[in-house]
Amino acid sequence: MELIDSHCHLTFDELRENLDETLERSRAQGISTWVTIGTDESQSREAVALAQKVDRMYATVGLHPHEAKDWSSDLLAQMEQWTRLEKVVALGEMGLDFYYDFSPRAQQEQAFSEQLALAARLNMPVVVHTRDAFDETMGILKAYDGQLNQVVLHCFTGTAEQVKVALECGFYISFSGVVTFKNAHSVREAAMCVPMDRLMIETDCPYLAPAPMRKQRVNEPALLIHTARFLAHLKQMDLEDLARQTRENTCMFYQLPA
Ligand SMILES: [Zn+2]
Ligand SMILES: [Zn+2]
Repeated sequence: MELIDSHCHLTFDELRENLDETLERSRAQGISTWVTIGTDESQSREAVALAQKVDRMYATVGLHPHEAKDWSSDLLAQMEQWTRLEKVVALGEMGLDFYYDFSPRAQQEQAFSEQLALAARLNMPVVVHTRDAFDETMGILKAYDGQLNQVVLHCFTGTAEQVKVALECGFYISFSGVVTFKNAHSVREAAMCVPMDRLMIETDCPYLAPAPMRKQRVNEPALLIHTARFLAHLKQMDLEDLARQTRENTCMFYQLPA
């Protein structure tokens, strides 16, 4: 059985130091393909470099809403350069985070919108981060209706109502360890609404270690197996089937070699 970690941050300090051992533990659990996600210029650069080095490691490049204050036309041009490399498979993560508001909302909206315009022009898939800003996020995405290749709402923490709106737009939905958390009833309701051909799974590590490993300080790709098991149980299906289907969806979304 094989799983793909469709969204992780292997270039973050918590993971980069012992990365070889971390990837070995991951492979031992059947997780030997990873998409490491860029969040700003330096993280995107490192993600690209890591993908060049490691077999079955892929990268995305983008500016996280937390860092939207750093948005510039130089970064836009740099992102376009990176997308010419073979193992750079999507733009993002990008989007809106009105929970933390680490960057002014107007700048978050501008950075998101201009990254979407680039994705439309380059016909690249888009990894979207949205927190406490679902309607605003969908509003900006609607402006690019029909122009975008594929969209995933990653680490989905919204409601069943919201997931239905996103599915109507043809988006993929990705769940992290949050779906396993004791109080995450509404996230589980949302997961129940996602048809198997739209579902992806991720760790979003180093954050959000899934139950029963929540005490582990640093999440890592090996722990994806817990989220996969949990979702298979929730959807009353075999783990192998969930693994195969989410793997196919992830390969389709990022256009990874099968
Ligand atoms: Zn995110
Ligand atoms: Zn992330």
